[in-house]
Amino acid sequence: MVHPIEGNAKLFAMLEKVDEEMTEQARCGGCLHCGGVLHRADYPRKPRGELGEAEKLFEKRFSLCCSREGCRRRLTPQSVRFLGRKVYVGFVVLVVGVMWAELMRTGAVLGKRLAGVPLRTVRRWDAWWRTGFTATSFWRAERARLLPPVDEDALVASLVERFGTTEQAATYRRVLAFLAPVTTNSARIAMGS
Ligand SMILES: [Zn+2]
Repeated sequence: MVHPIEGNAKLFAMLEKVDEEMTEQARCGGCLHCGGVLHRADYPRKPRGELGEAEKLFEKRFSLCCSREGCRRRLTPQSVRFLGRKVYVGFVVLVVGVMWAELMRTGAVLGKRLAGVPLRTVRRWDAWWRTGFTATSFWRAERARLLPPVDEDALVASLVERFGTTEQAATYRRVLAFLAPVTTNSARIAMGS
């Protein structure tokens, strides 16, 4: 089996560029609380998973901080690289979710890990997509717009399939862009670990 993380260097570089652009856009909008000037205040991330060389593209979560004395509030823009506070990067969460669905469908023998992610974590994510994620206001608003509808009992594989193109990188880029609004606490939706 081809390792799902390998061979995606171009996709990862593209995702970083998208995050840079969304951060710049948010910066130009100024502080949401006082209108003050926002400065970059990235914070370090130590992503788990078998990212290899690509790991360096995931070492910073882009973030902004208000420069006005007395405010100093942080604004963390949307991201196509990180799904909330999850310690694995968004791409890995999606790919592993799809692999898990396939394994469940075929009843294949399982090891202890899936693409480097412990099975207990994979199972937790699987449950989260169908309960935690479907309960977000984001999903409740967006699901009606997806035609044909996405099978909520088969999330997240059904969502990836819905956005699917013939090219894997393009497919994941689209799904990650779709999910970007739920990736920040600034949008008041916590994603858990
Ligand atoms: Zn401010």
